[in-house]
Amino acid sequence: MPYKNPEDQRNCERRWRQNNPKQNRTKTNRCNLVLKLMVLTYYGGGKVACIQCGFSDARGLCIDHINNNAGGNKRKKLGLNFYRQLKRSGFPPGYQTLCANCNQIKEAERRRQTSPHNRK
Ligand SMILES: [Zn+2]
Repeated sequence: MPYKNPEDQRNCERRWRQNNPKQNRTKTNRCNLVLKLMVLTYYGGGKVACIQCGFSDARGLCIDHINNNAGGNKRKKLGLNFYRQLKRSGFPPGYQTLCANCNQIKEAERRRQTSPHNRK
């Protein structure tokens, strides 16, 4: 039952988390997994899969910055914080779902192209 006072609601939830640490962890893990799958699905074109090769094990999938513009001047957000930020900002364009392998290959090619040894 919802409380009229939001502070009472927060205290009640805090007490429940303290009294049920195991269930709280399970609930948190489930919420985090749902968030990750939501973000991977959005940037995977409606599937939880790499857009390059079709690999579909969520454990090996990540979000890639299409134009390699990760970070910039801002401090880089990682993992769940990054997923939360994407969801909060309404899934902005410029990202795609890649598997770790395709992401690594893309990064290696980017480095090869920007290497000072490769310039003419
Ligand atoms: Zn892939």
